[in-house]
Amino acid sequence: MPGIRLDSVSKVYDGDHLAVDELSLEVADGEFMVLLGPSGCGKSTVLRMIAGLEPITAGDLWFGRTHANRLQPKDRGVAMVFENGALYPNRTVRENIMFPLLVAGEEPAEASVKAAELARILGIENAIDQLPWTLSGGQRQRVAIGRAIVRRPEIFLMDEPLSNLDATMRTELRQEIGAMSKDLKATTVYVTHDHVEAFTLADRIAIMRNGRIEDAGTPEQVYADPGTAFVAGFLGTPRINLISAVVRVTAHHRVALDFGTQSISLPPVDRRSLILSHHDGATVIVGIRPDALTLTPTTETDNWLTGRLRALEFHGNQWFAFIESDLNLVNPDLVGQPPPTLPTTLVAPPTPHRRSLRSPRRPQPPEPPPCTPTHRRSDLIVQLDAPTSLRPPTPIRAAVDPTRLHLFTQSGHQVARRPRKP
Ligand code: ADP
Repeated sequence: MPGIRLDSVSKVYDGDHLAVDELSLEVADGEFMVLLGPSGCGKSTVLRMIAGLEPITAGDLWFGRTHANRLQPKDRGVAMVFENGALYPNRTVRENIMFPLLVAGEEPAEASVKAAELARILGIENAIDQLPWTLSGGQRQRVAIGRAIVRRPEIFLMDEPLSNLDATMRTELRQEIGAMSKDLKATTVYVTHDHVEAFTLADRIAIMRNGRIEDAGTPEQVYADPGTAFVAGFLGTPRINLISAVVRVTAHHRVALDFGTQSISLPPVDRRSLILSHHDGATVIVGIRPDALTLTPTTETDNWLTGRLRALEFHGNQWFAFIESDLNLVNPDLVGQPPPTLPTTLVAPPTPHRRSLRSPRRPQPPEPPPCTPTHRRSDLIVQLDAPTSLRPPTPIRAAVDPTRLHLFTQSGHQVARRPRKP
């Protein structure tokens, strides 16, 4: 099976709408790559360019060693499943699945046997002679997947194939897609806006924003070590707490992160301590996931944040405490537009950005002020794994696990980013 390589690929719609902006990505032979990002960031456009359904405006697409920009869709060895896997309404499940084989000239009897075998694998054998309108949404999507893979494609593309299904069906089919793709050994690109789908399916995830890739890596890498504040905010529920802070270098070059009336200190052994110790007064964004905070009655720990309990939410096996505080909380969606304020030596952008397509440019929205606090996001969120007797509006102290802090520059790039291990 060939791998896929996109080399500075751009897509401009209608002469001036830049939907994909010099995007470079390699999907290895047999790899399951998930394109993840908010609606409108260009995921489907990338997929459609790989499928040959959209012409590429600039850049190069490769399937293995074959330059694929101008290959006809039918010559690409690609199968695609869409959000609403459209079926032929007057054909049965069996006839829908075997149709691509018949078009390819296969004997009807043989095609019928292959369709039945696939229907069995997909758990729709009992519906094999039914028409699509008699099927549930999940069954219809299984037929669409069956029809896509019956010719054993080399490249399998899926565009939000689960988004119209209910939660139980989504989980079930998600696991089957994962198992099937391993079995097929096809190179797979899967588009979703749902980070849980991405985490559970992907070998690697590429997180997109504004037509570009902000970060790419294994699910563990991008969650534990997000390259930007936006990526940190996109992965995980509830969202990571992002707090604006000022670096203060104290005696013996200890680094404190100053939140105004509150502060925490970085352990001296933290590699970022050394770097930040040269940047007294710089503004940074501190990321703390809700599970890196623990409600504590004591003052035994050095590092804690305080506030007033505003609400407690019960989520079955967990509770979330929403804490009003004087911290300057930052909306991850708004980080990243202003230029960096820290010296470039502190910042290694996630991917080198080559600029060859000069125009047209994406019309830029007005730049938001850095670190914009918003009313809705002004609560600090703490995860509790056991019930608490605390009730709003109690004053609260939350201990911070300093080993789990994420640090970003004001423009949202990770401080002292290390290249990913291959
Ligand atoms: P996503 O899949 O991440 O939701 P899309 O790739 O569908 O994003 O869209 C990226 C951008 O391109 C959006 O601004 C969308 O409005 C625009 N776009 C998508 N398809 C077309 C099209 N056929 N014509 C014009 N603009 C389009």
